[in-house]
Parts: sequence; C-alpha cells; structure tokens
Amino acid sequence: MFIISFKRKKCIGCYSCIESSPLHFKMSKKDGKSFLLNSIKKKNFFILKTKNWGTFLNCKKASIVCPVKIIMLNSQFY
Ligand code: SF4
Repeated sequence: MFIISFKRKKCIGCYSCIESSPLHFKMSKKDGKSFLLNSIKKKNFFILKTKNWGTFLNCKKASIVCPVKIIMLNSQFY
C-alpha cells in the first residue's frame, strides 16, 4: 500500500505538480491551490491510499518538482 500525503494549506499554486502528474493533481479555481484527486482530508493533510504503482510513481514525480515540498510519500507492506 502506498500513502500519499498532501499538505494543501501550504500550496503556492505553481502548477508544477499538475504539469508532471495531471491524472492526480488539479488546480482549484476557487483558491488557486492544487487538489490531490481522490484524496480524503485528515487533520491538516489530504491523504490518498493506493496499491497502484503507476499512481505512486506519478505522485513521486509531483513531489520532486513541488518547490515547497508538501507532497510526501510512504509505503506500508504487511
Ligand atoms: S507543485 Fe506544490 S506548490 Fe506547486 S501547485 Fe503543486 S502542490 Fe502546490
């Protein structure tokens, strides 16, 4: 299981994650911050849990290009 955590509050709306991972990130027209699609809000983070390797890799790309480093990835194996 891969866990992507996104601290949306700190997003500066630079579009880098959307350009590198358009299937998983989208810009909000309301507040100019990015959304992690299919994530659920937990306290200060938006969390996406997935078993999909492609999703993990795409979010990894987004985490690398994010200038404020608010996209974090973890993995859990049982
Ligand atoms: S790359 Fe980071 S700062 Fe830029 S829009 Fe995406 S989440 Fe926000």
